[in-house]
Amino acid sequence: MKAVADDERTLRDAVIRTARGMNALGINRGKSGNVSARWCRAAFDGYLITPTGMPYADLTTDDIAAMPIDGESESAEGTRLPSSEWRFHRDIYRAQPRTSAVVHTHAPFATSLACLGRGLPAFHYMVAVAGGKDIRCAPYATFGTQALSDHAVAALDGRKACLLANHGMIATGASLEAALVLAVEVETLAEIYWRALQIGEPVLLSDDEMDVVIARFRTYGQR
Ligand SMILES: [Zn+2]
Repeated sequence: MKAVADDERTLRDAVIRTARGMNALGINRGKSGNVSARWCRAAFDGYLITPTGMPYADLTTDDIAAMPIDGESESAEGTRLPSSEWRFHRDIYRAQPRTSAVVHTHAPFATSLACLGRGLPAFHYMVAVAGGKDIRCAPYATFGTQALSDHAVAALDGRKACLLANHGMIATGASLEAALVLAVEVETLAEIYWRALQIGEPVLLSDDEMDVVIARFRTYGQR
């Protein structure tokens, strides 16, 4: 294997840190989930992704797979096979030019809702943090398949996050940090929605109000 340049090494380590962060933050357990970051260098356009079936605690820089954007798992550079979900990572980067990182977890509350085939409606204004008036739940398909990837890309249209029926969730971002923060936010919203459902049917915000919130989010934050 040829030597990995310093800047790529830094991003590979950030992918590992993000994967460990999912578990440390309680939004993932064990070897479930996977993380990637878009990566381009001379004669390479693709993404760096966690390997399949390895505990995050054991990962070293060289365990991260470099996948070309137009490649299959056999075209992974390095010693490890990529996550079994490399298809939806690839297809999200293809569909969303501004996405630079993808975090996939089996977060307990988000996944519980996904097992009911339910996404998150506009029950709380923070749902707009994912870019729209709801966070959709993609229909079920077998893990690792092109069908799952197609469903995920459709559910992410105009959104930075979605749930995956009977499976988990995906959060994307302009950076690994942003994608991880969004994954935590989606799980927090899923927990609140789940708790509210124990008592009754949550009141939903109107489309007009969500339009106001989405517009405010565009300008929210420090100058
Ligand atoms: Zn999964």
